[in-house]
This record gives sequence, C-alpha cells and structure tokens, in this order.
Amino acid sequence: MTTVAILGATGSIGSQTIQVVRAEPERFRITALAAWSSIDSLASLAREFKPEVVAIGNPGLADQLRGEVPEGTEVLVGAEGYDELATRAEVVVNGIVGFAGLGVTLAALSSGRRLALANKESLIAAGPLVQPLRSTPGAELIPVDSEHCAIHQCLRSSDHEGQARYLHQLVLTASGGPFRGWGSDELQEVTIEEALAHPTWAMGPKITVDSSTLMNKGLEVIEAHELFGVDYKKIEVVVHPESIVHSMATFTDGATIAQLSEPDMRLPIAYALAYPERIDTSFGGINWGTSKSLHFEPPDRNNFPCLDLAYAAGETGDTAPAWMNGANEAAVDAFLKGRISWPEIASSIESALNQYDGALAESVEAVVRADLRGRECVETYLSVGGR
Ligand code: MG
Repeated sequence: MTTVAILGATGSIGSQTIQVVRAEPERFRITALAAWSSIDSLASLAREFKPEVVAIGNPGLADQLRGEVPEGTEVLVGAEGYDELATRAEVVVNGIVGFAGLGVTLAALSSGRRLALANKESLIAAGPLVQPLRSTPGAELIPVDSEHCAIHQCLRSSDHEGQARYLHQLVLTASGGPFRGWGSDELQEVTIEEALAHPTWAMGPKITVDSSTLMNKGLEVIEAHELFGVDYKKIEVVVHPESIVHSMATFTDGATIAQLSEPDMRLPIAYALAYPERIDTSFGGINWGTSKSLHFEPPDRNNFPCLDLAYAAGETGDTAPAWMNGANEAAVDAFLKGRISWPEIASSIESALNQYDGALAESVEAVVRADLRGRECVETYLSVGGR
C-alpha cells in the first residue's frame, strides 16, 4: 500500500489522480489532500478518502473547512500548510498550476519523498535549486507529463551503467495545438475560445493556451533538460497531431524507442505512483484492431516563436527560465482576460527576455525575483506597446 498526497486535488491532474486511486484501492491510499479554494469539492473528497490531513490555500476558508471534514482530520492553511502537507505521504503529487508550485516541489524532495511532478514550472524556473535536492536520501522525481513519462520509459530500455553515452537524441512530440498549419494573418484573429479548444487533450486553461503557442513544448524542452540531464542540442521537437506517440529516445546505433498510448493523463499519473511497478488497470491502451495513421512534421518556428524563446532561455540558464516563465504566466493571464491578442503573447515574452538581467539562480529569493521581473516586463509591455 502506497500513501499518496495530492496538491491541487480539485484541478485537472488532481481529479485524474483520484480516478487512478479509485481504480486501485488496494494499491494506493490517500493520506493528504490540498486545494486552493474549491472547498466543497475538497470537503467531499475528505469525506470519501478520510485523509489524515487536508490543506486549503485560501486562509479565509479554513474555519468553514474545519466544519466539513471528518472528525480527527487535521486542517492546514496557506502556502506553509501546503509545504507541510507535501511531507505527509510516500508519493506527493504536485498538481498545482504554475510557479506557485515551487514550495511544494522543494518541500517534497527535501523531506525525501517521491515527487510525482505535474507542476513542470517549478522544475523549469528553479532547476538549479531543485537539482541538489534530488540527492536527498529517499527523494525521487518522476515526471507526470506525458512526454517525459514516455522518455522515462524509453530510457529504461537502455538502463545500464554508461547508458548516457549511447543516447543520441530525445524527441519530444507536440500535438501542434489547435492552430497547427495556420498562417500569420489567421493567427492575428485567434479568439480565447479557439485557444482553449485543444484537439487531443482536455486540460486546464493555462496549459491549453501554452499548447496553442507551443510554449508548453518549449517549457517541456527545459523540463527534459533538467530531468534527464541532456544537452539542449540533443533535444528535438516534432509535431505529431494524433498525440499517440508521447515521445521517443534515439540511440547511437540508430534505434528509436517510443511509448504509445491514447492521450490519457491517468497513464503517466499511475506510472509515477506505481513506479517501478505498473498498475493492473489500463488507461489509454490502444485498440490495434482498428486502422490507424500516425503523422509527423517539423514545427512551424516562424509562426510559433515561443518554442525558440524557450530554447534560448534554457540555454542561457540561471534565472532566465524563471524570468521567461513569469513573463509567460503574465502574458497568458493577459490573453485570457482579453487584454492582448494571441500573437502578443509571444511578442511580450520576447520583449521581457530582451530585458533579462543575468542574475544567478543562487536562492529561492533570486528565482522569485526573476519570476516577478519577468511578469513586470510584460505589464510594462502592455501599458506601453499593448492595450
Ligand atoms: Mg506534456
């Protein structure tokens, strides 16, 4: 029996983690649950799973939550409550959206837990701070991102001492998002609704917009570099609209190993919870009895400049990824509020990166500051050049 903590329990990743646990109740037990403000859903989950501890991010809701959870359930509050909760299970699922998930990533690894990381932003923005914590005794970082879960599995095919020498290339697949094949004139007119309509994956709004700009893939390139220690020159992106091949590893002898399944996040979630074992429930298993076609094409780097902005920030290193990530979160927020057009997401991030100050990622404060500065640059862009 593996104990599981879920942060972001009422969000997209959290809800799918709950489904995995419900499918295999003999294997997993939820001991800790946290949500920012969805108090009714959190209380309902607490009554179903009877965790030892719950946390609510919004302090104004704490008293109400205390009245709604089963007797004996400890209630923690705010960001500190989140960090504490992230030490209370063998596997900690970080399903928080955006840079706000950093504290949980640091807390889970420094307390020697397995971190099932759906919050890629914390690793991307704070790689230099997260990396040393991975060597904490007991700590383990398993990605809950379909591409990185795929690569994790592909690399197991050559899992012996010195394997790194034989890796030629990681190939991250991208669906291409809803605007694949669109020209620059069409992209000027993109609406919020269109950006939120992903062709293959049902996800939260932030990551769905990131997928439409290819920034999600750019962030995943940095994530792959941090997770697997592979040089940026050895990380390739290929557009694969069906989202069946979740990513690949090519070795020096020419062999390419891929992981395939229908797009279903419950597979990578279950993989991270059960590793090195596998669960007995199939999520996303392919029916090979029907005909299928799989397509691959290079990404359109001109109309989707976010991809190369992310490569550039990753290659620069230090606090550049945090700066860019902060700028991206601000730009996506501005787009979702109707303050900027879709192409301005990329141009405002580019403007922010041009002002990057080169600060070292020597502390949490330095990373938080870079994140803030990136956001401020986008705000300035909006007030001067934008709307
Ligand atoms: Mg992904």
